[in-house]
Amino acid sequence: MAFVRADAAQRVRAIGSLEGLPTQLARALSAGGDFDPIPEPGPGDWLSVARERSQTFERFTRTASNRPAEPAQHIYLRPVGDFPPRHSQLLRQLQQFGSGFFVRELRLLPPLVVEGSGIATRRNRFTDVLQLKTRDILPALARSIPPDAWCVLGVTAYDLYPHDTWSFVFGEALLDDQVGVFSVVRYDPEFYGKPVADPSLLLRRSCKVLAHEACHMFGIEHCVFFNCPMNGSNHLAESDRRPLHLCPVDLRKLQWVLGFDVTERYRQLLAFWREAGVDDEAAWIQRRLDFIQGS
Ligand SMILES: [Zn+2]
Ligand SMILES: [Zn+2]
Repeated sequence: MAFVRADAAQRVRAIGSLEGLPTQLARALSAGGDFDPIPEPGPGDWLSVARERSQTFERFTRTASNRPAEPAQHIYLRPVGDFPPRHSQLLRQLQQFGSGFFVRELRLLPPLVVEGSGIATRRNRFTDVLQLKTRDILPALARSIPPDAWCVLGVTAYDLYPHDTWSFVFGEALLDDQVGVFSVVRYDPEFYGKPVADPSLLLRRSCKVLAHEACHMFGIEHCVFFNCPMNGSNHLAESDRRPLHLCPVDLRKLQWVLGFDVTERYRQLLAFWREAGVDDEAAWIQRRLDFIQGS
């Protein structure tokens, strides 16, 4: 069955009743004009090939596996293999972004050394680029998961493949084991030999995939309501179309799990995007903060 977009009333229903919530939280979760509906899927887009359940906020809270996180549980980021010098800043930036996005410290683990780890590698037959096998990385991450971890996300500058018949994969996760891994290499315009039109493109894409994968770890499924970083994506142009900020449905899910202060979260993200020089996102957050604070 073809995907049918939710209308405005269904999008509001997906957020759920805001009655009885603290004023600023209720304002932060109101749909308003700052959020766009999910675009109509074109041929080859995720929703023209994949079927998604509509995970409303209410359905999310009814799922037994989605439970509020303990304050002592951490999200860990673990580099897999070494990062080239031109990406030296990226790990620190991902850590800063994640700490703002989840309003809890995102901890960086020492790198998982590929040599001698039993992780299979190969040269991609089309690009000749060295690739690591995700189905070896994920068990290796799961074996060394810290006891206070909510999840461990591996991040690598190597290209990835899931198994021998696939050409490549952007990332993969084992939700039951609370581990995932994603590669930034195909988010780097240099991978395609193209000049870098937007110097923040690699950072935007990497932050988006970190947010998307970590939200999955909290039981948040693909968003079918708004244009949102939790939309499924089949190709890079579709990923690039997604915004950096969560829609109200998914913001509410994440807030329900983590219990953060929404204005504090936006303040931290505003400081991050300002420092990174990503002015359009900083302006969006400033506008939203002004609205939430009623100024
Ligand atoms: Zn996903
Ligand atoms: Zn969403």
